[in-house]
Amino acid sequence: MAIEGVLIDVDGVLVTAWRTLPGAAEALRELRRREIPFLLATNATSHSREGLSAKLRQTGLDVEPDRVVTAPVLTASYLRSNHPRARCYLLGEPELGDEFADIWLVREQAGVVVVAGADPAFTWENLSRAFRMLKEGAALVAMHRNLSWMTEAGLMLDAGAFLAGLEQAAGVEAVVTGKPSPQFFRQCVELLNLSPERVAMVGDDLEADVLAAQKVGLTGVLVRTGKFDPGTVDRSDEKPNHVIDSIADLPEVLG
Ligand SMILES: [Mg+2]
Repeated sequence: MAIEGVLIDVDGVLVTAWRTLPGAAEALRELRRREIPFLLATNATSHSREGLSAKLRQTGLDVEPDRVVTAPVLTASYLRSNHPRARCYLLGEPELGDEFADIWLVREQAGVVVVAGADPAFTWENLSRAFRMLKEGAALVAMHRNLSWMTEAGLMLDAGAFLAGLEQAAGVEAVVTGKPSPQFFRQCVELLNLSPERVAMVGDDLEADVLAAQKVGLTGVLVRTGKFDPGTVDRSDEKPNHVIDSIADLPEVLG
């Protein structure tokens, strides 16, 4: 079936450590030339959609803010629907822009613990604070479950590793709003106004980007850049629909 829309992960696919990967700008230009709608679908919590768009522009990638879907955007929307007016404790210090403007953030007696991407605010004290709130009955919502990401200094441990500890210690299970949650992909596909069978997801994370998207019916495209690890693919029972060297090869996959 022909691909009529594309979701593209940002970190490890378009940029690594905020440097544009070769062929990324050309691939986006080619999508525009063929009038294939695309969205950047990212678990990044370090930037608002405006901020991410501006940051990408500095690296030579021109993507409008309304083409950016971040985990915080979908998290705020989830909180509004499922925990309206709840007191929320945010673990992490993401750049939220306007996305969280109407979410009530507190540091005590929260009804919901919201876990963002890992950053220096993931201290033992803050993790223990979150743990105590969970023991007292707070709901647990996580923006994603990523275990690591690649930086100039090497791989960094991400929120998923801390989340697993919180879940085990408190005996609760998190609702995940970003990738690999099926809801994340469904919402993106809805924004494109296409059926999942007509949409491809391009990412460097086998589990969270590619296989998770395939489970929802999208075509999965794994790139051999960013955190790509050939061993992970070999060990996995499920395989990506496509594996390409980099985003530069995306136009070929689209035919
Ligand atoms: Mg990535």
